[in-house]
Order: sequence, then structure tokens, then C-alpha cells
Amino acid sequence: MAQEAVGRVGRTLVVSALRQVTEQLRVALAKGEALPSAFDDPGLVREAVALVDALSSASLKPVFNLTGTVLHTNLGRALLPEVAINAVNAVMTRACTLEYALDGGERGERDEHVEALICRLTGAEAATVVNNNAAAVLLCLSALAAGREVIVSRGELVEIGGAFRIPDVMQSAGSVLREVGTTNRTHLRDYENAINDATAALMKVHPSNYAIVGFSRSVTEAELAPLAKARKLPLITDLGSGSLVDMAALGLPAEPTPAQTLAAGADIVTFSGDKLLGGPQCGFIVGRADLVERIRRHPLKRALRLDKMTLAALHAVLTLYLDPDTLVQRLPTLRMLTRQRSSMHAQGQRLLPLVADLLRGMAAVDLADCESQIGSGSLPIDRLPSVALRLRPLAGEPVQALAARLRQTTIPLIGRIHADCLWLDLRCLEQDEEFLAQLAQLGSQRSKPA
Ligand SMILES: *Cc1c(COP(=O)(O)O)cnc(C)c1O
Repeated sequence: MAQEAVGRVGRTLVVSALRQVTEQLRVALAKGEALPSAFDDPGLVREAVALVDALSSASLKPVFNLTGTVLHTNLGRALLPEVAINAVNAVMTRACTLEYALDGGERGERDEHVEALICRLTGAEAATVVNNNAAAVLLCLSALAAGREVIVSRGELVEIGGAFRIPDVMQSAGSVLREVGTTNRTHLRDYENAINDATAALMKVHPSNYAIVGFSRSVTEAELAPLAKARKLPLITDLGSGSLVDMAALGLPAEPTPAQTLAAGADIVTFSGDKLLGGPQCGFIVGRADLVERIRRHPLKRALRLDKMTLAALHAVLTLYLDPDTLVQRLPTLRMLTRQRSSMHAQGQRLLPLVADLLRGMAAVDLADCESQIGSGSLPIDRLPSVALRLRPLAGEPVQALAARLRQTTIPLIGRIHADCLWLDLRCLEQDEEFLAQLAQLGSQRSKPA
């Protein structure tokens, strides 16, 4: 057993784990404590191997996202297309032109690998990319508004999941938040009245995960732009998701695009790479060339820059956007978001008898209509009609216990608990055979002694 562990992880770790276990044993003996039965001879080795396994086995691993939330932040958001994976592979296994211009054989700029594509897809004069959209906002404010005021509507002081809050980011950047308007209504004159000598910028923030309905009013970029221009202040918009295509044309809830926002008069727009865009985690800063240049020269840019793997993946994803006719089929995020209920229903019909058979004696299974969510800061009220395999545990087993067992398979199956059932939303399921193979493990799990 110890020899086998040496084969897997090497001698150093196994020896250190054995020492750790014998040390525990020595301390217990010295104190005159009763020894746990694990400390008989093979038990000792088993204990050491358990330590080795805990340290060496990956906790970051693939799962099946059957939650119905397509861009699930905790499950890694967008899935990358094949072309992006190949591109990452290529730059990982060989030296690459990350900051090298082949023409002159001299130093190059890493942004240049994607800037022209981003400009083409957004209509921007210039673009730069950083680690994520939170970093993009932080960098913009640091470069354009440190020590000065930024005017934001009270209705747009949002908190996105994972502790991204506009007032806190503002503070980190050394800018002073100047709130205007009220929670439900902000007018152009509110911005106008707040402008003073200390003002550095006007900012708009996409409310992303919440909506103010009823008696409400916000000021659009098109309305704000003339004011910003007259006062020579940059208008910055944090767009959040920032789809590069017209979502409504795909039958999905409408989202403003960076191109529309720039055309409406925003000077700088920021958005995420791994939300609706369907790419790797990154954040875009697009807009006026002089402002992008100031942002790029800020020292924080170096700390927030992209690595070669992300750049390679991003370039590959952006090239898919050049061919709108094949985009939806080739980009997993859009492919999954645009699946029709009939497609999940047909898939469910195929899977149902097989799943019911694999779960015989454990759960009753049927097909049920449900609703998926886009996720990642998209409105929770916008739902996509979907279909789920609905598992109802048998023999009085709590549904939490069934859900826990599905999380113990080689590629864990993550569903959603609702009304005493475990719902496996089929929208993001594209590997039926592998999925069934996981369920097949449940039978053997059960027959193992506890
Ligand atoms: C999601 C979101 C962010 C944070 O983007 P990340 O890419 O997750 O860092 C910032 N602002 C808005 C409006 C968002 O929706």
C-alpha cells in the first residue's frame, strides 16, 4: 500500500506522511492515551496514505452542471469551445510570441494579440484586457479618477456576487463616490448639479442582478453623453455581462452590447469575458484611444494583466464571433442558452428509461418542465423554459442524502433540490454517455460496506 502511494506521489511525501502519523502515535503513547484502532500496524500505513491522498488529490475538478444555471459562477461560468482549448494547448507546450513581434524580431505588446478583434466587434477605437471585469473597473477608476470624484446614480450602486460592490471598488481606487438621485429615480439634472472642480468622471453601472420596477427613472448613456462632452468629463459604463451579439435576436432577454453603449456616447465601457461572451475569465476595457492609453500606462495594469493561456483562449473565442452564422453552434454558452425546451424534452425521453433503470430501488424518476437561468449577474426574473430529470428518493431517504451521493461520483453530478426532489436540468448536459456512467457508479457505491 505504501509502495503503491510512492509510485503515485513519490517517496518524499509518503515518508513525511508516515513520520507525521508516527509522531501522533508517539505523542499519544507519551500521554498514556488509549490508542485508536487505526494505529495497529496496517492502520498506520492507511492513515499515512490518507494524508498523502488529501494533499495530492485535486479538489478543483470537472463536474456536470445540472443546476439549470448556465453561467454558474461557483461552477466556473462559461465553458470554452474546442478551438480555444487547442489554442491554449499550443502556447502552453511551446515558447510563444506573448510579447514578441515577429516582424522586427523585437519586443511586442501582449494586448496586440486581441485588440484589433475587440475593436472590430465593439466599434471601439482602442481596447485593453485584464484579469476580470472587477479588475477592469478598478483599473479604469484608478487611472482616470484617483483622488477625485466620480458621479454615480444611487440606483446603480450595486453589489455583484463575490463582494464586488461599487462603493468599495471606488474606495480601493482612491476615488470619491458622489451619489446622485434616489434609489428609484435619477434625472439628468442630478448629474449636472453634482459636477464640480473635483469631478473626474460620470459613471453608469449595469444593475445586472436586480431590477427596479414601477416608478423609476434612470439616465441613459445617450442622455448623459452631451453633458459629459460639454464638461470634458469621461463617461464610463460598467456593462457587466456585455454580450457581443444581439441577445433578443436569439430569442433571449435583451442585453445592451458594448457596441451600442459606445455608439450611445460612452467613452469607456468595461465588461466580463466569461459571462454572456462565453470566453475565459477576463475583463475588457474598450473605448476612446486617449483614455485607453492612459489606462494601459497605469502601474496597476501590470499587476492585472492577462497570462498567455487566457489570451490564447480569448483570441480563439473572439474569432468565432467573426462568423455569426456558425457562432451559436460553436460557442457552448450561446449553444446552451438557445436550446429549445423541445430539445431537452427529446433528450429526456431518451435518457429516462436508462436513468430509471440505473436508479432502481434508489429513486423514482420522471421528466418535468422547469426553468433555467442565465446566471452571472443576469436578471433572475428572466427564465428559460427547460426540462429536468426529477429524482424522488425512495425508502424515506432525505433528498439531501441522494444529492450528496450524486456528488460522490467520479465526475460529480450537481443538481438542484426543489420540493423534496433532486432536479437534473438537462440544458447544459451534452455528454449523455458519461452522465449515465456516473449514475451507474451509484449502484456499486451502495453495495460497498459503509
Ligand atoms: C459581473 C459584474 C462585475 C464583475 O465582473 P467579474 O468579471 O466577475 O469580475 C462587475 N460589474 C457588473 C455590473 C457585473 O455584472
